[in-house]
Amino acid sequence: MDIKGKVIIITGASSGIGEATALKLSKEGAKVVLTARREEKLEELKKKIEDQGGEALIVTGDVTKKSDYEELVKKTLEEFKTIDVLINNAGLMPLSFVEKLKTDEWEKMVDVNIKGVLNGVAAVLPTMIKNKGGNIINISSSAAHKYFPGGAVYCATKSAVKMFSEGLRQELAPKYGINVTSIEPGAVSTELTNTITDEDIKEMFKDMQKMTFLEAEDIAEAIYYTLVQPARANINDVFIMPTQQQ
Ligand code: NDP
Repeated sequence: MDIKGKVIIITGASSGIGEATALKLSKEGAKVVLTARREEKLEELKKKIEDQGGEALIVTGDVTKKSDYEELVKKTLEEFKTIDVLINNAGLMPLSFVEKLKTDEWEKMVDVNIKGVLNGVAAVLPTMIKNKGGNIINISSSAAHKYFPGGAVYCATKSAVKMFSEGLRQELAPKYGINVTSIEPGAVSTELTNTITDEDIKEMFKDMQKMTFLEAEDIAEAIYYTLVQPARANINDVFIMPTQQQ
């Protein structure tokens, strides 16, 4: 597919993978719709996109709120008339060992990492079904493949996203031509670890910093690769690890 002129919604666009993906896809000619809660970060990104000759719309919102998604879809259709791609990227990773019973953080992960993805899909599907086509890209994680210390709940949320993506693909791709992909990165250098409050886990991550992480731009490239395939080819999973990560 040629992504020039395609309308692409990116959740969690205010930093990290979402921001890098917005920059990459807009540089390739897509019209990007940027959503997240931090408006000032989205404004900075919109300016960068416009400086490189691209087009962006900001709709601030929280992926856990269905009403925010309704607004997002409404404003996108008003401005750009259609929706070609949804990238469900917003997520958080407040890791901790289960025995610490940080149940509020478990709930947040379920709400953002799983329900946020479901809300996104529910919001865009009527348009994509009407169009008989589109792409849904869900950012899962290498955590869907293997557990790591403190990651029981996070890994469970990302496994849910991976399996939901496969179910979506089987239901939507043959019937409506809506392609679905699960992107599964290992460690990427972003703000994601800022959501960790547990001191033991913070120590563990200090050790990990010795390794060379992936950059957000590497994941943006993987997303671009997924999108430029011919409509007949569905990239189911992209599992991408830092060379040095076990
Ligand atoms: P960042 O922390 O840089 O980005 C997370 C984004 O999610 C931010 O833009 C944040 O925006 C947004 N977000 C969080 N909560 C909400 C919410 N309730 N509503 C709307 N937006 C929200 O981390 P990454 O770029 O690394 O993370 C992006 C995705 O990649 C996540 O799903 C993460 O799980 C996944 N991933 C990351 C890996 C890594 O090593 N970094 C590895 C594998 C997967 P704001 O705060 O402005 O709302």
